[in-house]
Amino acid sequence: MYLFKRVADLRAHLQLERSAHRSIGFVPTMGALHAGHLSLIERSLADNQVTVCSIFVNPTQFNDPEDLRKYPRTPGADLALLEAAKCDIVFLPLEEDIYPPDLPTPQVDLAGLDGVLEGAHRPGHFAGVVQVMSRLLAIVQPERLYMGQKDYQQCVIVKRMIRQLSLPVTFVMAPTVREATGLARSSRNTRLTSEQREAAAAIYQTLQEAARLNGHDPAATAEWGKERLRERGFQPEYFSLVDGHSLQSVANTFDAELIMACTAVWVDGVRLIDNLAVKGDPLR
Ligand code: AMP
Repeated sequence: MYLFKRVADLRAHLQLERSAHRSIGFVPTMGALHAGHLSLIERSLADNQVTVCSIFVNPTQFNDPEDLRKYPRTPGADLALLEAAKCDIVFLPLEEDIYPPDLPTPQVDLAGLDGVLEGAHRPGHFAGVVQVMSRLLAIVQPERLYMGQKDYQQCVIVKRMIRQLSLPVTFVMAPTVREATGLARSSRNTRLTSEQREAAAAIYQTLQEAARLNGHDPAATAEWGKERLRERGFQPEYFSLVDGHSLQSVANTFDAELIMACTAVWVDGVRLIDNLAVKGDPLR
């Protein structure tokens, strides 16, 4: 496995791979790797001749400095996992290389996609995601980009960014990997005790119950979901049923072919997100 820290070194290596007509798959991460990240690596390894995984805790997408400070960092374990997974290249960029002072971020019209759900509760978060993703894609120039459904809104926004900037990359969204209890795997889960982790399975259960209510009034289902999570002792920040493309609330279940239930929940000071299709299949 090759490890690069400097952009110029990674670029020189990828240039060689490209001139040998080897296809490049890219998995961007913030580290503290788990089975969810590894599923993306495996998918990329199956589809491409070269897989690049980046690990960069992007400061510009954290609206809360405390969240950035507490974000888990496990570089030694990450490298061991990537090596065992047979990832070809790890990119550990320096902040000054990702954000040189004179480099403008391309303007992307997100058409309101960033004003709802996570965007409504984490101001500036998606501007940071667009900033880092546009930069990473310009550096790696992969054929295919792999991201997880776990961050559904992020997938929709990055897909739109790729279209708006006419980037020559195929976006692949991979399914959410879950623990045996159903809790979505997340780097933030390491901040929960085993009891809290067990209890947090209620988030997925509530999403599943909401999905079973497909056909009912979506606003009422959303209210029900919020209440259900409160009853279970959690603090839901939002629980919404949205059109899977526009991410706007749906008035009834007939208008949209894809409806997603999306939620953010505080579990004893740790903020977790998850989502599930209520109608249609986002992976199709
Ligand atoms: P992060 O390190 O949290 O920025 O995540 C890096 C990538 O891994 C993103 O595309 C995430 O959507 C994806 N990811 C994180 N958790 C999961 C999961 N449980 N299942 C599938 N993909 C995931």
